[in-house]
Order: sequence, then structure tokens, then C-alpha cells
Amino acid sequence: MDFSLSKQHEMLRNMVSEFAQAELSPKALELDEKGKFPFGEVKRAAGLGLVGIVNSKKYGGAEMGHLARVIAIEEVSKAYPPLGFFLQVGSIGMYMLETDGTEDQKKKYLPPLCKGEKIMATALTEASGGSDPSAMQTTAKADGDAYILNGRKLFISFVEASDWVCVTSKTDDKFNVFIVEKGTPGFEISRRDKHEGLRSIPVNEFALTNCRIPKANLVGQEGKGLGVTMSGIAVMGRMGAASVGLGIAQGCYEIALKFAKERKLYGKRVADLQAIQFMLVDISTGIEAARLLTYKAACLLDQGKNAREAGIEIARAKLYACDLANDVALKTVRILGGAGTTPEYQVTRRLRDALELLPAAGTQEIMKVVIGGGITR
Ligand SMILES: Cc1cc2nc3c(=O)[nH]c(=O)nc-3n(C[C@H](O)[C@H](O)[C@H](O)COP(=O)(O)OP(=O)(O)OC[C@H]3O[C@@H](n4cnc5c(N)ncnc54)[C@H](O)[C@@H]3O)c2cc1C
Repeated sequence: MDFSLSKQHEMLRNMVSEFAQAELSPKALELDEKGKFPFGEVKRAAGLGLVGIVNSKKYGGAEMGHLARVIAIEEVSKAYPPLGFFLQVGSIGMYMLETDGTEDQKKKYLPPLCKGEKIMATALTEASGGSDPSAMQTTAKADGDAYILNGRKLFISFVEASDWVCVTSKTDDKFNVFIVEKGTPGFEISRRDKHEGLRSIPVNEFALTNCRIPKANLVGQEGKGLGVTMSGIAVMGRMGAASVGLGIAQGCYEIALKFAKERKLYGKRVADLQAIQFMLVDISTGIEAARLLTYKAACLLDQGKNAREAGIEIARAKLYACDLANDVALKTVRILGGAGTTPEYQVTRRLRDALELLPAAGTQEIMKVVIGGGITR
């Protein structure tokens, strides 16, 4: 077993770290306070090949694999988690198209998405509960060469900034996924939710009222839409959330360690106080464990395992890394004393972002349901 990264992965980490430190860190607070979608940063990330990092070169992607994606999201999220979160959610639809889309769909949608010229949201969650897709009420009825969609989705990331939305529907116990183009008559964004974290990622509610969607926009085999959606959410959403969590934890750890080494009390460094050291030990050990879990799940995907075959490992990574991000951010606030909640250190910004990871891409309890079901099968 070799734990070292390949030269290619090391180079990618260095490149993304330089980008994050030079271009994201200096304006992360301002972007957060403005609460506007970071179009410019998405475009830059796309230019570096990060948006379509797992997509095929044939469709404009970088074809670097899942471990590369995890490393890239981790580095971005150390500085500015909302961009990491975009790389998480924004790629779910891209994955669904790449694995289940038709050749025409891949050619039409993937190249502009990989370039960051267009943006795609993914909509599963409804008021009936994100954890229970079987209760969803969005319907799609066949009508000639089209489907008529009716329903309402909520908690959907960056719909207002998107050009296209992958919508999951359920009719007569059959699920289907459709690419819905914004501007289609009957598509209407009804609300922007106010969330405490990831403030530059708008979260929207939208309605579909007799939306006529061409049959050519059906993604995957008719009736197989739940599998298509859940694979995308597991492989890109949960793996992405784990990577954002890892980045937040690492970013906070670096702040805590620097502060503890520099701050003097009783004539010595705060880092020499055992209570502080023990927190730093717990943080660094947790990060090591989260990284191993996340990288292992990514390697399984790179070795060809699918969402079902790597489902337990993916869920473990999401569960552990997202809990860790919250724990580390809170411990960092404590280590910094009164400085912990000042904007200067930007720890509370990261703590707020970490909170959003708990429900996103499936709650922590749902991760336990996945793992529990798997290990007791
Ligand atoms: C920032 C953010 C961005 C998001 N972006 C998107 C997006 O782009 N697209 C999208 O479709 N959705 C998105 N979501 C929604 C997210 O996927 C849901 O919030 C999540 O799936 C949980 O659904 P819910 O909020 O309806 O909670 P519920 O499903 O109502 O859950 C309520 C509680 O019950 C628990 N619970 C549910 N089932 C079980 C069970 N079987 N066993 C034990 N406990 C259980 C849950 O863990 C939770 O504690 C986003 C959410 C956030 C916060």
C-alpha cells in the first residue's frame, strides 16, 4: 500500500493551492459579505480545468479522475468553501449526462459547462422531504414528443445563476430526469432562501407549471431516473461535500496552529498549553482520518467502482469529513479566544459554511442509514 500521491496529483494540488491563495483568499470575506454568485471565480476554476475535472476530454473535460477532483475541491475550500461547494453541486448534472446522457446531450451541454460558460443546477429536493424521494410530487406526463412537468422544488443550489436544471420527477412510481432550460414557459423561481452559510451560493425554490420539455431532454432510460439521480448525488455530491469539509477543516487547522504558535501567555506560547495541544492533536488526527477515508473512496471510483459498489465508503467519507469540519471550526474558535469570532480570522465564516454541509447531498443520518444498511446486509 503506497500512501504517496502521484506527481500529477502533487502538481495539481500545488497549482490549485496557488490559485486559491492568490485569487480566492484575498476576497473570500468580501464575496461572502456580498452574497453574490461568484461567476468570475467559477470561470477561472473552469479555465484551470477544475469544473469538468472528471469529464471526458472528448466533451471538454480534463479527464483527471475522482482523486484529482477531491484534491482540487479540498484546496479551493481551504480558502473559499462556496467555490468548492459549486464544484460539488455543479458537477452532479454533468456526471449524470456523462454516464447516462445521449450522445447529442453530451455534445450540446458538456463543453459549455466544462468551460464555465453555462451552469447547471440539480433539483431533487421537495417540501415532502429531501431524504425521502419516493414522496416527491413533481410529475412528468408524456404528451406527443414532449413531457409536461408540474411541481415545485426547494433548497436547490444556484438555480438563479444557472442556465439549465436537471429535474427529477415521479409519475406512477416511475422516476425520470429532465434537462429543463431556464426560460421554458412555466418555469419560475419563486424564492431565494436565506441560509447562514455559503452565502454566495443562492439556494432557490422554483415551480414548474405545465412546462413542456422535449423528449430529447430525458436523461437516461425512461423510468430509471432515481438511479441516475442518486448515482450523481453519491459520486459527485457526497464526495464533493466530503472534500469541502476536508478543506474547511484544513483551513481552520492552519489558522489555529499559527495562532497557537504566535500567541504568548504566561511567558510561553499558547501552543505549549496542554489543553490547546490536545485540541490540535484531535484536529490533526481527525483531518488525517478524513483525508484517508475521502481519498480511499475516490480511488475506488477511479478503479471503476460505481456509486452502489463504493456507496459505503462514499457515505463514510461524507459523514466523517462534514462532522469534522464543524468540530474543527468550533475548536478553532475556542483556540483563538476572543479573536475567534472576529472577521480578521474568518473562522466563523468557515463554521457557517460547514453547517450547510450537514444536510447537503444527504443528511448525516442518511449516511448512517446507508452505512448501517450496508454493513448489516
Ligand atoms: C446549502 C444547501 C444546498 C442544497 N442544494 C440542493 C440542490 O442543489 N439540490 C437538491 O435537490 N437539494 C439540495 N439541498 C437539499 C438537501 O439535499 C436536503 O436538505 C437534504 O436532503 C435533507 O432534506 P430535508 O431538508 O427535506 O430534510 P428531511 O428529509 O425532512 O429530514 C429531516 C430530519 O430527519 C432525518 N431523517 C430523515 N430520514 C431519516 C432516516 N431514514 N433515518 C434517520 N433520520 C432521518 C434527517 O437526517 C433530518 O435530521 C441543499 C441543502 C442545503 C442546505
